[in-house]
Amino acid sequence: MSFLESLFSGAKAFIREVVVPVLHAAKQVAVETVRVVLEEIDRSEFGRAATRLIDGAARQYFGRAEDLAAEQREIAERARRDGRRSTRDVDRLREIDLERRKLREDLDAAQASEASVALKNAAGELVASPVSDDETSAAVGILSSRVCPACGGTMRMRQGGFNGTTQRRSFYWLCSAHPGACKTIPFDPVKENLTALRRADPNLDLPLNERREIWERKDVIRGTQIRLRQHLGEKDDEVICPHHLLPMKLLEQPNSSGLLLSTYQYVCLHVDDDGRACQHHVPLETFPQVSESLRRSEGAGIIR
Ligand SMILES: [Zn+2]
Ligand SMILES: [Zn+2]
Repeated sequence: MSFLESLFSGAKAFIREVVVPVLHAAKQVAVETVRVVLEEIDRSEFGRAATRLIDGAARQYFGRAEDLAAEQREIAERARRDGRRSTRDVDRLREIDLERRKLREDLDAAQASEASVALKNAAGELVASPVSDDETSAAVGILSSRVCPACGGTMRMRQGGFNGTTQRRSFYWLCSAHPGACKTIPFDPVKENLTALRRADPNLDLPLNERREIWERKDVIRGTQIRLRQHLGEKDDEVICPHHLLPMKLLEQPNSSGLLLSTYQYVCLHVDDDGRACQHHVPLETFPQVSESLRRSEGAGIIR
């Protein structure tokens, strides 16, 4: 059976708890678990591809994706100017769609390979920790190796609203290849009983009450806002628009409240075939999401 539930970019994996010998000390658990997971990755298709891949290979695909997005924008502008779309442009849009399908496959393979290399390189530093709501929220929107059972595309973790009665958020896997068409898969960290492998992080390792108390302190919120705002307009290579296959940008939501957890989002600035703004966005609604965003841009989360 497969131990690996999903491999994420940024040296993180969710694995089935069965591989964790619970009686060992946390550090030993991690070492043994990492060994088993890395063996499994080595046997997998993307693990074999990884050995042939040079670091940063995924980035070369962004160049091709940029070209396709620019061409799509030109075609949309031409249609608006002329009041109609030429047969040639209709054909070209169909070709762009096909090219993107191929590109998505290449990009998925490259990202999965990079993720496995990142996990291998971090092997000595990884800790094992039960997958909680916060752990799951920290993985929202980022690239993962989870495969959609309907179409074979990759899926990403998404989150629903906060339920005041249960005091919890809902999570689900969303297909990146056909987000509206393929069925989403509900994900309940409490029921799944998984273990996360990742680098130690006080924002996820401190007891829940303790870290929440720090996150919610006024001075910490103010400092976090200042840090986050320094990255407005920056692209994040681990948050990719599933349609345009390009890194999304951190921006303020229009008419935002100014509050830390309802103001920022990742946005795709490209357009659809009709020239409308891409609808794909990933709002930052939880402290773990904000913390991860800072960790990716600055190397440390909210609590450093
Ligand atoms: Zn799918
Ligand atoms: Zn997009």
